[in-house]
Amino acid sequence: MGRTKKVGSTGRFGARYGSTIRKVVAEVEAKKRGPHKCPQCGSMGTLRRKAVGIWHCKKCETTFAGGAYVPITGL
Ligand SMILES: [Zn+2]
Repeated sequence: MGRTKKVGSTGRFGARYGSTIRKVVAEVEAKKRGPHKCPQCGSMGTLRRKAVGIWHCKKCETTFAGGAYVPITGL
């Protein structure tokens, strides 16, 4: 890869929306991709997405329905 853009995941937006908004969106999206906390046992990084909206914790073996891209919706 060549140039790296400061705007991170929002580079796809190009010059639209303004740099401030893009920065906020980049932070939100970074949170989505970070390690998720299991609502059952509270462990970080143990959740795996089995399918769209289906999450499984490999520590406490809990399977639950959540958001399509994040375990808990409404963050
Ligand atoms: Zn768990």
